[in-house]
Amino acid sequence: QYIHAPDDLNRLLQDIYDEALTIKQGKVADYIPALAAVNPDYCALTLATLDGEVFNVGDTKQQFSIQSVSKIFGLMLAMERLGDDLWQRVKMEPSGQAFNSIVQLEWEKGIPRNPMINAGAILVSDVLVSHYSASKNAVLSLVRSLCGNDRIYANDEVHQSEKEHGHRNSALAHLMKSFGNIESDVDELLDHYFWQCALTMTCENLARSLTFLANDGVCPFSKKEIMSKRDSQRINALLSTSGMYDQSGEFAFTVGVPAKSGVGGGIVAIVPDFGVIAAWSPKLNEYGNSARGMFMVRELANKLGLSVY
Ligand code: GLN
Repeated sequence: QYIHAPDDLNRLLQDIYDEALTIKQGKVADYIPALAAVNPDYCALTLATLDGEVFNVGDTKQQFSIQSVSKIFGLMLAMERLGDDLWQRVKMEPSGQAFNSIVQLEWEKGIPRNPMINAGAILVSDVLVSHYSASKNAVLSLVRSLCGNDRIYANDEVHQSEKEHGHRNSALAHLMKSFGNIESDVDELLDHYFWQCALTMTCENLARSLTFLANDGVCPFSKKEIMSKRDSQRINALLSTSGMYDQSGEFAFTVGVPAKSGVGGGIVAIVPDFGVIAAWSPKLNEYGNSARGMFMVRELANKLGLSVY
């Protein structure tokens, strides 16, 4: 049974958050040097429900680097522009590999396994750069309108830092180009990809911006149809099978909702017909998912009985 009473939910979130603070394991991502500068002790948990209530505990107004959570926004625009042709160039299968793995891409002739791993999101960035006259503006206006907040930006320092150290992502892009699966200039599409990963948002921004995925594509606040029911179901399906990378199976098993993580320590979990949980804490587990974030999302989903299975 869902708990609807706001008082109960505030208490529950607070208890889960307090327990999360005792988790000390994990390591802040440092392969992007600018990310390593973040205070590792930050911790935030937001629940935005479809009836318009938002519950916040911890550092929910603090901006952080959303990193791979941005893969959702890029994919939305690529799906809109290419329609079903997109699926000729990227598959919809779980990878069973690390998020930045290269080997599989060579075996599979430059077709990424799904749009939620780096290779897939880099392919999506190629679609945006070659099909939108100003791809960054397109992403920015989408994200701003979803958040109802015009002051969302990408962090320049994180963008440049990843650009200087993103050799693995460059390798993925060049490998796909060698197989003929990339149309635009590699440097240009990588610049878009790194910029998109450097978007900064708060936990509350993230939760609100994705509520439409819990509501068949319709934003519950503005009542605007953001995408068709079919497409929102498809994005949720991809998040369920691939959103937590090589821990997606365990996440489905122990939590049971579509979700996406980023190496900035953010996690969003979509609970169809109920709302969105967003969690953030910078220290990551071995899969690149936030250690405290995993705990908080799992506890909240379990205590409220939210698994879709
Ligand atoms: N910008 C990061 C990268 O490309 C995103 C990865 C992530 O958040 N898992 O490595």
